[in-house]
Amino acid sequence: KTFDDCGFSPQLMNAIKKQDYEKPTPIQCQALPIVLSGRDIIGIAKTGSGKTAAFVLPMIFHIMDQPELQKEEGPIGVICAPTRELAHQIYLESKKFAKSHGIRVSAVYGGMSKLDQFKELKAGCEIVVATPGRLIDMIKMKALTMQRATYLVLDEADRMFDLGFEPQIRSIVGQIRPDRQTLLFSATMPRKVEKLAREILSDPVRVTV
Ligand code: AMP
Repeated sequence: KTFDDCGFSPQLMNAIKKQDYEKPTPIQCQALPIVLSGRDIIGIAKTGSGKTAAFVLPMIFHIMDQPELQKEEGPIGVICAPTRELAHQIYLESKKFAKSHGIRVSAVYGGMSKLDQFKELKAGCEIVVATPGRLIDMIKMKALTMQRATYLVLDEADRMFDLGFEPQIRSIVGQIRPDRQTLLFSATMPRKVEKLAREILSDPVRVTV
């Protein structure tokens, strides 16, 4: 398998080459065709597997695929992660691939000024990477709406549950249109995460690495 089989834009292929990603990792090999076909996915994979690119690359593809949505407001891609460190890493990885397409990425997590984040979100973005609590705060402050969101990623779902974010996750998911594409990544699948997956994903494909 190669990245050339994915149907990515020349800009995206260039950005991938710049990262020295020679070939897709096992999780990318399995997940990319499924996600690019528009299906929901449960990815059982750990950090270090290359799972971030497995959801970020199709997200860029998904955003480029819907030019008619450009007039509306709010992010198209929404990524929730358990910690600011992970959210920041995902933000950096997303920016690498978003830049060449003029796609704006905002990061939203605790420890940063709420006012600065509010202003940044008000300026607009196509992708938001967030910890659940701060994202809810920003939605309540009307810094952004979920009306344009069609691609939702829950990363390290088991850790988000361990940290008590289940209610926040459910609240966020409840604000995103049901015909969205949903991706759930987790290192383990405890019963509570399985239950959430059954409730919020539609006919998901499960991949394990
Ligand atoms: P992740 O599991 O997403 O945190 O990724 C772990 C590391 O692997 C990150 O530094 C990525 O930039 C890198 N990476 C992701 N995909 C590839 C690839 N196909 N080839 C080489 N490195 C990769």
